[in-house]
Amino acid sequence: MAVIHRRLSVPVNVGGVMVGGNHPIVVQSMTNTDTADVASTVNQTMALARAGSELVRVTVNTEEAAAAVPRIVDTLRQFGVHVPIAGDFHYNGHILLKKYPDCARALAKYRINPGNVNIGKKHDDNFRTMIEAAIEYGKPVRIGVNWGSLDQALLTRMMDENAKSATPLDAREVTLNAIVESGLLSAEHAESYGLDRDRIIISAKVSTVQDLVDVYRKLAARCDYALHLGLTEAGMGAKGIVATTAALSILLQEGIGDTIRASLTPPPGGDRTEEVLVSQQVLQSLGLRSFTPQVTACPGCGRTTSTFFQEMAAEIQGYLRRQMPVWKDSHPGVEEMKVAVMGCIVNGPGESKHANIGISLPGTFEEPVAPVYVDGKLFRTLRGDSIVAEFTAILNDYVERKYAVAETAQVAGD
Ligand code: SF4
Repeated sequence: MAVIHRRLSVPVNVGGVMVGGNHPIVVQSMTNTDTADVASTVNQTMALARAGSELVRVTVNTEEAAAAVPRIVDTLRQFGVHVPIAGDFHYNGHILLKKYPDCARALAKYRINPGNVNIGKKHDDNFRTMIEAAIEYGKPVRIGVNWGSLDQALLTRMMDENAKSATPLDAREVTLNAIVESGLLSAEHAESYGLDRDRIIISAKVSTVQDLVDVYRKLAARCDYALHLGLTEAGMGAKGIVATTAALSILLQEGIGDTIRASLTPPPGGDRTEEVLVSQQVLQSLGLRSFTPQVTACPGCGRTTSTFFQEMAAEIQGYLRRQMPVWKDSHPGVEEMKVAVMGCIVNGPGESKHANIGISLPGTFEEPVAPVYVDGKLFRTLRGDSIVAEFTAILNDYVERKYAVAETAQVAGD
């Protein structure tokens, strides 16, 4: 694992998953089903959890959704899925948490958006009601500021003060400061109402990379609350993935961030679990956590005129991912294994030797043989039509030898 000095935050227990302190950076996700639709929400939550999401957030926007939450959590538990479920509240969280105590009890965390809870208002202190629910049910909260719903009264006040200053800042800087201030002031209020510091996580999401980096640097410098990191509304496809990766990587490299979410927009009918895989890949590429064996594959070039090696790389990557739920407990450490699938002799043998196990396929005009390297040494040379099957068998054998947990000896007659 990479040596990165994490900013030391106060750890928070979210339904048994520790966020912050020295604990591993937690991957989380959010459903996009109608929460009132119990079956769809359960199915998607199970898919997200199976993909590796360690926390799953569901929107709790209506009475029907609040009523469905305990049934969703019960059903998940009956299926043996114990991922903590966080509730995402806006505008009416104070009403729903009070009216649906089973929902308040079933959730592992409440997300509160200070931009839409009328924080600090004398006669409408919705924020306080939500904090009191968190205290009553022993739950942590995430104070989730988002610049799309930033507390306008706070922003206006800070803009006015800035305008009167002898050395006024530009509007961008004041807005970023207002985002930070909104999170910190809300946390201060929450503590003053009796919520312990180790029950507070803050996020301050914006949708452009440089703004996110600046806002989190400011936030991290001013507090030791655990931080939830994410580029909000990152977008679709390559844009969403690259922008998320860029933003999160800069901050994670600086030790900022205790839990992450990739807010990707899936294509219609697309797979929601992509956001989990992207978060995992960000952490694994930075060397911060390992989730699945990594396949090093070359991009291919004019020396590989067939698509065979691309197909093989995809097949091996898919196989490793499918095997992980099986290997996870029985073969600990396998998630750190490196596999190389290379297209020709130029970099094939060299890259294969750097991997735990690697294969260098023949490029165009090369002899049709594929040397396999194990732990840096030539192990066997494959040829013919069954290269993929034979390589997979060598891979399985390697995993078995290197990572299998020795079975506990059975006591005779037991
Ligand atoms: S390893 Fe060979 S096939 Fe792959 S990119 Fe390099 S030169 Fe091309």
